[in-house]
Amino acid sequence: MKAQKIGFNTICTHIGEIKDQQFQGAISPIYLSTSYAFEDVPVKRYPRYFNTPNQEALSKKLAMLEHGEASLIFGSGMAAISTSLFAFLQKGDHIILQRTLYGGTSNLVTEEFHKYGIEYSFVDASTTESFSEKIKSNTKIIFIETPSNPLLTITDIPAIVAIAKKHNIITMIDNTFASPVNQNPILLGIDIVLHSATKYLGGHSDILAGAVIGTQEHIDRIFDLAKNFGGSLSDFTVWMLERSIKTLGLRVREQNKNALQLAQWLEQHKDIATVYYPGLESHKDHELAKKQMKGFGGMLSFELKSGLDSSVFQKSLQLIKSSMSLAGVESTILSPAITSHALLTPEARDQQGIKDNLLRLSTGIEEVEDLMTDINQAIAKTNTTK
Ligand SMILES: *Cc1c(COP(=O)(O)O)cnc(C)c1O
Repeated sequence: MKAQKIGFNTICTHIGEIKDQQFQGAISPIYLSTSYAFEDVPVKRYPRYFNTPNQEALSKKLAMLEHGEASLIFGSGMAAISTSLFAFLQKGDHIILQRTLYGGTSNLVTEEFHKYGIEYSFVDASTTESFSEKIKSNTKIIFIETPSNPLLTITDIPAIVAIAKKHNIITMIDNTFASPVNQNPILLGIDIVLHSATKYLGGHSDILAGAVIGTQEHIDRIFDLAKNFGGSLSDFTVWMLERSIKTLGLRVREQNKNALQLAQWLEQHKDIATVYYPGLESHKDHELAKKQMKGFGGMLSFELKSGLDSSVFQKSLQLIKSSMSLAGVESTILSPAITSHALLTPEARDQQGIKDNLLRLSTGIEEVEDLMTDINQAIAKTNTTK
């Protein structure tokens, strides 16, 4: 079945499923074997070869959700990202990355690449010229992440693709924040799509996993390195992820709706100074987001009015949990200045527009009125302690 002929939620529920021939059960059985026959078999299976029955089943679903030909599932988002990068980079090569990247990806580049003689340039993603200016004869990859963390800036995907194609450069995107519900980069010309499945694909804050999707040729190349790096995911977790993705569309569409309502409400709120959400007309990249996204996602950030202590506010929340991670069905909040962006100098944070009182909210699927009530009661407590 072609992706165009079958709806998103139907792909989520059915594509790739393993038929239970023995008992006719409704869901994919789970195969935990690490040992398979090697004689007279069509495929030599082994979990680290990414080809167990459950891995193959889930790979089909992911490939179709992202409109790719093939997919591999990894033990973490960083395993997917690092393996995919190293599959296409060698000594003497150069890569261009947008500066506002997930911290782990940036650390991988700055802490490891020099050891392998790989050159890199970080650029401001708000203009496409900053990417084209850095292109050299040895540039092999352009790597972007949109929406970005924590200000939800949007990178112009088709514009980046156009530059890269002209110079025969591979494009990679970290599509974690958008999820395949809201953004399908391959349809916009991107070569390789990466996910931390720990976030929206898993969606219940109980799975650590990653995925890469692309053409069969690109995935074969990544596989050649992946089997040596050994970052595959256990079949039990693969099966949990398959189960989680059945509700991906339902969850993320609800999170989109809650985030938009919350963003609009916060923007009008007398105790909130600024709201960053690509679905708001006031967001600097709103028009671009409308062009390349199908929904604006569940992530938003905001600053309290000066005089209100964001850490008192955060501790006063009762429903919304403090959390380092994101994208679960429960709403969570963090302060980028003391968590995800703590390693940056205050000047570097300032340069990226990340104020010390900025809070990043990952919107869950609770009733939005209950989230508003929680925020209001926390603000009231913060006001009295100021
Ligand atoms: C969490 C995250 C990652 C890393 O994923 P892990 O599963 O923690 O390895 C990469 N990119 C983005 C945007 C993330 O949010």
